[in-house]
Amino acid sequence: MEEYLSERVKNLATSQTLAMAAKARELRASGKDVIGLSLGEPDFNIPDFIKEAAKKAIDENYNSYTPVDGYADLKQAIINKFERDNGLKFTSPQIVVSTGAKQALYNIASVLINPGDEVILPCPYWVSYADIVKLKGGIPVEVKTDIKNNFKMTGDQLRNAITEKTKMVWFSSPCNPSGSVYSKKELQEISNVLESHKGIFIVSDEIYEHINYKGGHHSIGGFDNVKDRTITVNGVSKAFAMTGWRIGYIGAPEWIARSCNKVQGQVTSGANCIAQRAVITALTEKPEKIKYMVDEFKIRRNLILDLLNDITGFKCNIPDGAFYVFPNISYFFGKTIDGFEINNASDMSMFLLEKALVATVTGDAFGNPDCIRISYAASTEQIKKAVERIKSAVEK
Ligand code: PMP
Ligand code: GLU
Repeated sequence: MEEYLSERVKNLATSQTLAMAAKARELRASGKDVIGLSLGEPDFNIPDFIKEAAKKAIDENYNSYTPVDGYADLKQAIINKFERDNGLKFTSPQIVVSTGAKQALYNIASVLINPGDEVILPCPYWVSYADIVKLKGGIPVEVKTDIKNNFKMTGDQLRNAITEKTKMVWFSSPCNPSGSVYSKKELQEISNVLESHKGIFIVSDEIYEHINYKGGHHSIGGFDNVKDRTITVNGVSKAFAMTGWRIGYIGAPEWIARSCNKVQGQVTSGANCIAQRAVITALTEKPEKIKYMVDEFKIRRNLILDLLNDITGFKCNIPDGAFYVFPNISYFFGKTIDGFEINNASDMSMFLLEKALVATVTGDAFGNPDCIRISYAASTEQIKKAVERIKSAVEK
C-alpha cells in the first residue's frame, strides 16, 4: 500500500540521528552492551531550580491552551535573554515560542520557501536542515567546507554559491556536527556578502550558544546590514538539558514571526504550558548557573580528542563548541577489517555498531560522507570504554 504515500513523504529521509539512537536502544534491549554516542542529548539531569519552577506551575494549575506564540511573560524573558546574551533587540511580536527549535525551523521554512527556491547549507550541516528544505519544495545547495578551515564557510564560498534562486542561508554556530564556532569577523564577512542581496534571508541556529569552550558567541543578526533579514533560532534542549521538554524559540522580523505564528496555529497551537513556565525560570537565570555542564563537556571533549587522535586513520578538527567530534575516517575506505568491507562513512558507522558495539552517526546524514559524528554527551567512563573498543576494532 505504500505507493499511496505522498511523493513528498516518499522522498523524505528518516532522521539518521534518531534512527541510530533507536537501533542502539533495540540492540540494548536484546541484551547487547551498546554504548550510545549517536544522539546529541546532554546526559545531565535538569537543574533543580528549573524542576522547582515546573512543579510550581503544576500546583498553580497551569493547564490550559497557551497563546500560540507563547506566554507573554516567557516572550519577555526571551527578549531579555536576547538582549543580555546576544545584544539583539526584539519586541514581543517578533518572538515565537515553539515545540522545540526543530518546529521553529520547520515554521521558518514553511513561511519563506517556495518550490524551487535554493537554500545554501554550509556543509556539514545539522541532519534535518536539508530534509526540511526539501519538504517545502526547496533545493538544498551544499557548500563544502574543509577541515583545514575548521569546517567553516568563507565569504568567497558563499558568494560563489549565490544564484538568482537563492532564498536563504541556513547554518548553526556552534555547529552540529563539527563543533565549529564562527568568529565575529567571519560572520561579518558573511553579512557583507549578503548586504546587497536583499531577498536572501539568514537562519542562524544558535541552540548550542552556551556550549562554547573558547568563549565569544556572536549572533549574525547583530549586524545592521542583515538584521532585518535574519531569523535567530534558539532553545533550551542543549544548554539546560531539557531535550524532552520541547521548547525552542525565534527572534525574527515581525512579518516573519507573525507568519510562523499563523502556521503554528494551524499545526500544533502553543507549546506545552508547564514547560513554558519552567523555561521562564531557565532563561531568567544567568548562564553561569549552568556553566558546570559546559565545564564537564570541555573535559570530555579534551579526553575524546586525545583518545581519537591516538587511532591511526581518525583525523579530527578541534571543536570549539557543541558536544560532537566529527572525525574524517576516509583512511579506511577500501579496506576490509574483520571481514567487514568499509567503503564509506555509513559502512564505518555500521562496522562500529556491530564490531565495537558503539553507536555513532554517519557523516552522510550531515552532508559529509568522509566523516562520522560521535557525541561526547556521555560519562568519561563511557567515552574511554567506547574509544578503547573503537581502537581495538579498527586496529584488528
Ligand atoms: N538545531 C540543532 C543544530 C540541533 O542539534 C538540534 C537538536 N535536536 C535542534 C536544532 C533541535 O532542537 P530541539 O530539541 O529544540 O528541537
Ligand atoms: N540534535 C540532536 C542530534 O543531532 C537530537 C536528535 C535530533 O533531533 O535529530 O543528535
